[in-house]
Amino acid sequence: MTRLAGKVAFITGGASGLGRVGAERFAAEGARVVIADVGDASQTLQAIAQAGGTAASVICDVSSDASVREAVAFAVETFGDLHVLYNNAGVMMAADDDPTNTPDEVIEQTLNINVKGVLYACRHAIAPMLESAKRCGEASSIVNVASFVAHLGAATPQIAYTASKGAVLAMTREIAAIYARRGLRANALCPGPVMTPLLAKFLSDDAKRERRLVHIPMGRFGEPHEIVNGALFLASNESSWMTGQSLIIDGGITSAYVTPEGPAQS
Ligand code: NAD
Repeated sequence: MTRLAGKVAFITGGASGLGRVGAERFAAEGARVVIADVGDASQTLQAIAQAGGTAASVICDVSSDASVREAVAFAVETFGDLHVLYNNAGVMMAADDDPTNTPDEVIEQTLNINVKGVLYACRHAIAPMLESAKRCGEASSIVNVASFVAHLGAATPQIAYTASKGAVLAMTREIAAIYARRGLRANALCPGPVMTPLLAKFLSDDAKRERRLVHIPMGRFGEPHEIVNGALFLASNESSWMTGQSLIIDGGITSAYVTPEGPAQS
């Protein structure tokens, strides 16, 4: 379990959901982890310490440039390096709807966190990441969490969220192109539905969950570790010749047209 040995990883939104599972897994793979979250990450820190890993946390609102700058500085001061930026923090707001019904404040808040948050973290982390890449002789890695909705129109409208994830995908490609020869890779991770607190708010009863499952060829929601496996691959040097790509882990959603009756049964 040393796929991130010697690496320092900065993970936004690591207090819960996919980010928490990612922080624990990265630490188990040898990374020193910094969790940057608006919420309390003490449970994640405790779990990492109990498993023998190394982590620190900092309160950070990714939609604030100053807050992100301070959090990245804290990471570099604490562990002396920065090799992996895992831009995982994201929101999907209850009032996010179709283009005619989504309030401005929902659009602004979603874009501020999901898009500007990724951009601010890149803005402040890239310089130390380039330095760390020089020191360790391997490219540093940015993993930006987008979503399957960046590739496929979702039946349930959430226009601000979808716009934000499309932006994350496009931004990732551009960052990859800019830094490809300078010791920095950037890839997007595009999960399908995983039952974290973020999704549980929306698929709150059996009928809603069943309706979503119809569209998943594999017939089940993803498990957090199945997404984190992809994040780990992108973060580690195993993906050393991969940049500007989108890794979709979605139970087959974006690969298949499924009729309202569901996938064929054999
Ligand atoms: P979650 O709600 O369980 O966790 C999100 C974390 O981000 C929380 O710890 C929260 O405190 C933190 N956060 C929210 N706003 C923040 C801010 N302004 N600054 C710092 N931290 C903030 O969500 P999740 O399901 O684990 O989602 C993680 C990422 O995966 C998100 O980017 C989400 O869009 C993406 N994603 C999730 C799914 C899914 O089905 N769960 C599918 C596709 C993509």
